[in-house]
Amino acid sequence: MQVEENFLLQNLNTFGIAAQAKYFSAFRSASELEILLEELPETDPKLILGGGSNILFTKNFNGAVLKNEIQDITILDENQDYVYVQAGAGVSWHSFVMYCVENNWGGLENLSLIPGNVGASPMQNIGAYGVEIKDVFESLEAFHLKEKTIVNFNNADCEFGYRESIFKKSLKNQFAILNVRFKLCKRPVFNIQYGAIESELEKMKVNQLSVKAVSDAVIKIRQSKLPDPALLGNAGSFFKNPVINQNAFVELNRQISKNKKIDESTDLPFYKISNEQYKIPAGWLIEQCGFKGKRLGNVGCYEKQALVIVNYGGATGADVYNFSKTIIDKVQAEFGIVLEREVNVF
Ligand code: FAD
Ligand code: NAP
Repeated sequence: MQVEENFLLQNLNTFGIAAQAKYFSAFRSASELEILLEELPETDPKLILGGGSNILFTKNFNGAVLKNEIQDITILDENQDYVYVQAGAGVSWHSFVMYCVENNWGGLENLSLIPGNVGASPMQNIGAYGVEIKDVFESLEAFHLKEKTIVNFNNADCEFGYRESIFKKSLKNQFAILNVRFKLCKRPVFNIQYGAIESELEKMKVNQLSVKAVSDAVIKIRQSKLPDPALLGNAGSFFKNPVINQNAFVELNRQISKNKKIDESTDLPFYKISNEQYKIPAGWLIEQCGFKGKRLGNVGCYEKQALVIVNYGGATGADVYNFSKTIIDKVQAEFGIVLEREVNVF
């Protein structure tokens, strides 16, 4: 394992930001990580990197960026109904999903084509089309960067929430996730009510639902709606969808119907997630503020989904961050809602 100095990270983050790391290296096991940590200055900050698809570097990283390349996939146990599979943190997420789809194991098909690696999937409890990894997550092993011990986390330990986990909150930047274990279903129950999956399956003329058919439908929808980071730098949804309570929801509806700047026939879209809580699509709020497809210098909001901020080429991390701040301020002024960034900002 070589430690490189002043290493350019541009090809290792899907925004394509040309930030540098003071030190950079990669590891393929917990023991390699331990050796690296002994070599590197103890007081320098450490950043564990996966596929770089949920990161924004706003400046050079004044410490060590360590890329997790732990690769194995192992079947741990199985019975008539379930299979328990462990995947190394460095395995590409989509190739792991494809491995499960090929084996006809259900649970991850709605999460097809999400960029990044397995190790980052618990970080924000990745989710799409009504499924989150917490639904099939068994446990993970993680290496404590300071204490140099391996700790096991079960589902409850991870404190999963909406695009959240303990690793983004109280344990932020403390652990390197080494591997993740999933409980997948040999008799899958499909979740196709969400978004355009059902209509895509109809278009595909699927009569018999299968893990593969649902995965194919999700892949088709995603390819038609989302920018390919290889062609246009981005990190997926830049903001989380805000969740507001009943009073705020009533007030927001009242305000929208009063607001002259907004087309009065436009209704506030929402998803009721409990008796008291409503999820509002952040993309809609941003679109209403006029940002959809809008470009400012080298940065802009994607033309098909305002929630995705794109780098048209040559943008700095600060350009992207400042653009996101402009959006936050405008949405707050217009709707009184403060959008929260989903992307990890360094
Ligand atoms: P990175 O960007 O490398 O890292 C993200 C964070 O996790 C960083 O803080 C990093 O330090 C930390 N981290 C990474 N690996 C480890 C590890 N092994 N141990 C400890 N910490 C670690 N997300 C969704 O939830 N749903 C989607 O549908 C979705 N669609 C996307 C579509 C596009 C086009 C893009 C570009 C992104 C999308 N994302 C989506 C966001 C992103 O792909 C996921 O969050 C993904 O899990 C990030 O994985 P990564 O390996 O690239 O993480
Ligand atoms: P979409 O289908 O146009 O829907 C817009 C928003 O409405 C989504 O954010 C979604 O919330 C919400 N929504 C739609 N149907 C819903 C339902 N039946 N119940 C509850 N909420 C519903 O969204 P999209 O942009 O094309 O994305 C499709 C899926 O991929 C979404 O689940 C989205 O989260 C995921 N995705 C995530 C990222 C990322 O970087 N995090 C990037 C691209 C796509 P949720 O986001 O809470 O699901």
